[in-house]
Amino acid sequence: MRDLQEMETFADSGLAPSILEALSAMNFTKPSPIQAKAIPFLLENSRDLIALAQTGTGKTAAFSLPILHKLDLTRSHVQALILSPTRELALQITKDLMNFGAKMKGLKVVTVYGGARADVQIRALKNGAHIVVATPGRAVDLLTRKVLDVRQISTLVLDEADEMLNMGFKDDLDTILATTPPTRQTLLFSATMLPEIERIAKQYMNDAQQINVGGRNQSADKVEHVYFVAHARDRYEALRRIIDAHPEMYGIIFCRTRRECQEVADKLGSDRYAAEAIHGELEQSQRDYVMSRFRKRRIQFLVATDVAARGIDVNDLTHVINYNLPDQLESYVHRSGRTGRADKSGVSIAIINMREHGVIRRLEHMIGKKFTQQPIPSAKDICARQLLAVAQKILEAPEVERAVMEHVPEVLEQLKDISKETLVAHIVSEKWGHFLEKYKFADDINVDSRGMESRDRRENSGIAFATFQLNVGRQHNFTKQDLFGMINASRELKGSEIGRIELAGGTTTFQLEAARAGAVIGAFRTAKFNGEPVLVTEAAPMAPRFERGGSRGRFGGRGGGRGSRSGYRGGSGGGDRGSRGPRGGGGGFRGGNRRGGGYPTRPGGAPDDL
Ligand code: AMP
Repeated sequence: MRDLQEMETFADSGLAPSILEALSAMNFTKPSPIQAKAIPFLLENSRDLIALAQTGTGKTAAFSLPILHKLDLTRSHVQALILSPTRELALQITKDLMNFGAKMKGLKVVTVYGGARADVQIRALKNGAHIVVATPGRAVDLLTRKVLDVRQISTLVLDEADEMLNMGFKDDLDTILATTPPTRQTLLFSATMLPEIERIAKQYMNDAQQINVGGRNQSADKVEHVYFVAHARDRYEALRRIIDAHPEMYGIIFCRTRRECQEVADKLGSDRYAAEAIHGELEQSQRDYVMSRFRKRRIQFLVATDVAARGIDVNDLTHVINYNLPDQLESYVHRSGRTGRADKSGVSIAIINMREHGVIRRLEHMIGKKFTQQPIPSAKDICARQLLAVAQKILEAPEVERAVMEHVPEVLEQLKDISKETLVAHIVSEKWGHFLEKYKFADDINVDSRGMESRDRRENSGIAFATFQLNVGRQHNFTKQDLFGMINASRELKGSEIGRIELAGGTTTFQLEAARAGAVIGAFRTAKFNGEPVLVTEAAPMAPRFERGGSRGRFGGRGGGRGSRSGYRGGSGGGDRGSRGPRGGGGGFRGGNRRGGGYPTRPGGAPDDL
């Protein structure tokens, strides 16, 4: 590859003064690396160019500025055709072209894309266009109808060529490449070098110069890659904890399918996060509405498929989250490239299951950067971070209105005997107490490399456990949250003293720190479930859940043996109508009838099946 001359400033690039004027009005002072390489090359050469660069590198200006510079505005035919994978990106390119060409009198740029009325676009083309920005399908459609004439173009741009191929535009690209004049200069931009791109280069491009800023460009260097390992069943819970641990997050959550996208967005919605789905099934007007709310930060998270997220041009995303890694690993580059843009740093997060470690290694190889594994934040971490965020918000808050200040002395007088600590604790608890409540009984859902869960680790940590059984189980719709609810309501035991819990059809077996076994009678004395007293009995110890090479043993001698030695009654020993404070008999955790419709609320925040 020949060395390329690089320009230092736009002023010494040789670009037309009208363009320089527009650039300085836009505050483009220093060329980005891809611009520094591509612009001088394109101004001096008619050779083809392949640039490996992803979104956020300034690639739009890299091809747009030379195209504008070379335009002959006195001639009315189409001189450049720019192909983009999505409508959003096409519109963004057009907007950039109009800004760069703001001082070029008579400049006509027309955008054509699928999913919108063709007649309006045809009318625009008939009015004349120097540059046409198009999605491939609509371009072919208009070529076939002979309303788009590309026989005289001098430049053809394939922007995000890998995305166009991934989206199935291969045949359309072939048609367009074969229809445009062989004398054209072809500029191909792609984040990754797919074999199919090499084929296009071989078949349709001449002596192409290659520029590589993809993967290792400035903006990509500002992206940190992180992954979390969770059981597939805990994926959503892991997501929730990750976002709860980062109150400042503003980002895109990527899903593999439209369905998954909608499901995740719906769950987040039910859990009261400001999140909206954006996928191909939405009407254009709905997409526009969602996007405008996201830009204004009324929505904190977009939940998107790869296709829908293309062309989303939001510069200050703090995070992108791969709820599931993409099937096409190349898409990861595009996903992560949505953050760490415009001089900001960003984090790309992947939630993986235990079998996906290999995928992370392949991604590391592909992007040339290491991922770091982080533990799924614990309930304690989350609460601490949320509370600190409250403090930060207070520090950053604008001055309090005078009308409020006027009342402060009276309030101070009334609270004069309360310490500062107590006061702060009350305010914080008022504002964010629901977080503490939500995570009160949340379990650790981290998975270690051998697949042991934390409760098993606790079991193996030398703590002695006694085992008990309740006469309610899955068939009664009894859940772990119900068990914690009873324990909490009794105030005799703490959730943290419980070890493993196994829900069976008609019973629930649980471990309790042996040192606390004596409190079990009191804890269940008045416990009721669905109006019936709950009976607690001592049970045989549980077998370890994972044994190396062995079978997954259940608790031995179920039902038989020592099973029900002594009936520790937790029943109607009198006075069970009297409530024991706000959460009598576990009812505080339940919204009445569990079979009721709608999304099941899980105030305990713990997944169903830890
Ligand atoms: P792109 O990769 O073309 O989507 O550009 C990413 C963002 O960087 C866009 O918002 C551009 O307006 C901005 N940008 C591109 N080049 C420059 C430059 N030389 N100086 C400042 N901003 C730029």
